[in-house]
This record gives sequence, structure tokens and C-alpha cells, in this order.
Amino acid sequence: MIGIIHGFGESSLNIFFSWIFIGFWLLFLIKYREKIRKFKEFNSPHNTSFFILAVLFTGLFYLYLGYYTDLLNWNWFEDSEFYFFLNPWIFFLSFPLLMAGLSYIYTSIKKNDVVYLYKTKSMKARQFCILILFFTLILNVIFIIAISEGRRFYDYYPNYTKIGLILFSFIIFSTILIIYGFLKKSKRSSITSQNAIRRRRSEIQSLSPPRTRSQRQSKPRTRNTTTTRRPSQHQTRTTSKPKPRQNVRKTTRIREIERLKPKAGILSLEDFKCIFCFCLPKNPEDKTRGVVLCPSCNYPAHTDEFKDWMKNTQICSRCNSNISNSFRNNPKIVPIENYVAAIKYYSKKENLK
Ligand SMILES: [Zn+2]
Ligand SMILES: [Zn+2]
Repeated sequence: MIGIIHGFGESSLNIFFSWIFIGFWLLFLIKYREKIRKFKEFNSPHNTSFFILAVLFTGLFYLYLGYYTDLLNWNWFEDSEFYFFLNPWIFFLSFPLLMAGLSYIYTSIKKNDVVYLYKTKSMKARQFCILILFFTLILNVIFIIAISEGRRFYDYYPNYTKIGLILFSFIIFSTILIIYGFLKKSKRSSITSQNAIRRRRSEIQSLSPPRTRSQRQSKPRTRNTTTTRRPSQHQTRTTSKPKPRQNVRKTTRIREIERLKPKAGILSLEDFKCIFCFCLPKNPEDKTRGVVLCPSCNYPAHTDEFKDWMKNTQICSRCNSNISNSFRNNPKIVPIENYVAAIKYYSKKENLK
């Protein structure tokens, strides 16, 4: 038999532990499915580190085990003189996780600005992915050296000295992704860096709670007196700005847009920026994310960041008002097109900078 360099001396122990590892694998799968279900429900992008780290390294761990286990290790390429082998263990337990992990890395590099590591800690997605991929490359090189030397761990001997089909393709794909990561320009990474988020948070904390009850009540009033489209506090401050065109009839579209307006004293473009990453929501880029508005202050947050924040607290990071459990569990997500339309509408109408 090609590739098998050693008889099964301790096979009973080996097989016993292999069964236990299959149990762990099933537990992991349950946990993984649960996470996916939760993320689907919340319509969040999969940009917590779990989807990259846990999935990828579990896949790698079971790949390496596939060389050492005596369970399910029938080589499908036994007669091949080629350098490859593949066994059911690797194909069923490791391969799907490795593919999933790589695809998360790909989408992360492509779409996400940040990856959440732990709670609200984040890292630039591109850097994070490249780092992880490099790490797996090093691991793989060490592993290949180990098996080619026939290195044993306790009573476990490698059954194969070849690289193997899956490991080979994994190395190729991860190398391609590293190159892709380096070539891919990060557009807005400076605004969404950890420091920027931290700065933004402290900035928000230093602000006085912006909207009080009296202001909240003033809003419906201005809406009822349809002639003044602009809330009174703006008129006092912005006398030089163009006067509101009162002859324009309010369409439902505009009324819809007005519902998205942040409750700021003096509206500026800043008020339309996500309260966490300080980015202005953009249309194609944030399409998968959407925006959630705080029910009290109406300030926007990217949906995923909002959810993340809500994991640890019940209050809005902008206005410190309590957010109801029902809203936390099922926040109203504003489609990005609508929000971008509101930004355009107000920056034109109020001449925002
Ligand atoms: Zn954001
Ligand atoms: Zn708020």
C-alpha cells in the first residue's frame, strides 16, 4: 500500500480517540449552524472572527487528524502513483469546513472593513485575513515536514507521507487569497480602524445626550404644520441658507425620508454617519448591511455594529436612552438605498457639509 509506512500498533487507542473527535466535530457543527441561523435572522454580514477562525482551524485540525487517525482512513487514491491521497475522514470532516473558512476570508477581504474579534474589539478585515492565512501557511509547512519525517505524536504515527489532495489545494487557495488580499485596495480602512472607532466612541460619550423629550415632541408639531418643512431651530441659525421651497408638495416619499432624519439640533452631515464606525452609509458598499436607527435619537448605525453593541448593553451609544428588548431582538432595518436617499435629500435641502 502506497503511503502507509507503519502498521497499526496502537490502533485501538487511536480509533477510540478518533470516535471522540468525531463527537467533538458534531458538537462544533451544531454550534456553527446555530451561529449561521442567528446571523441570517439578523441579516448581519458574517464578520465576526468565529466564522473565520473557528471554522478554518477546526477544518485544519481535522485535516491533520486525517493523516494520523486509523478511523475512516481508506485512501481513495491508493493505486495512484501520483503525489495525492484522499480519505473519507478528510473529505467529510475537514474539507467542507476548510472551504467555508476560505470563502469567509474571501468575502471578508472583499466586502468587510472590519472583523470583530471579541465583543466590540475589531481589526481591519484585510489585514486580519492575510495574517490568518500566513499563519495557516506556516502551520502547513510545519505539518508537511512532520509527516515527511514520519514524526509520531505519542502513539500516533502518520499513515501518509504525501501532501494529499486537500492540503495541496488548501495551500494553493490560501496563497491566492493572500495575493488577492494584498492587491485589493482598502477604500475606507482609515475611517474604520480600531482607533477611529475608539475615538468615535469617546467622542460620542463626551457629547451631551442630544435629544430631550421636549425636542422629541417638537418634531410631530413641525410635521403637522406642513408649511414649514424645516424645523424651527434651523431657521434661527441658517438665515443665509436658501429658503425652503414651500410650494413643493410633500410626497409620501419625502415623508418617508423625513422619518430617517437624525434628531440633531443643527443638522450636519456628521449626523448621518454611523455612530460606531463614523462612516457615512454608502449605497453599493453597505448594501448587505443596512442601517438601524435608534428609536429615540434616530441616529444611524450599521446593522451589524448595532447588533454587536446590543449584545453587551441595552442603551443607545449616542443618546443613552434605553432600547426596548423587542427592538433589540428585531430592529427595524432601513434599506441602504432609502438611507442614502435621505442623506442626499438633506445635504441638498440643508446645504450640509
Ligand atoms: Zn458603522
Ligand atoms: Zn439613540
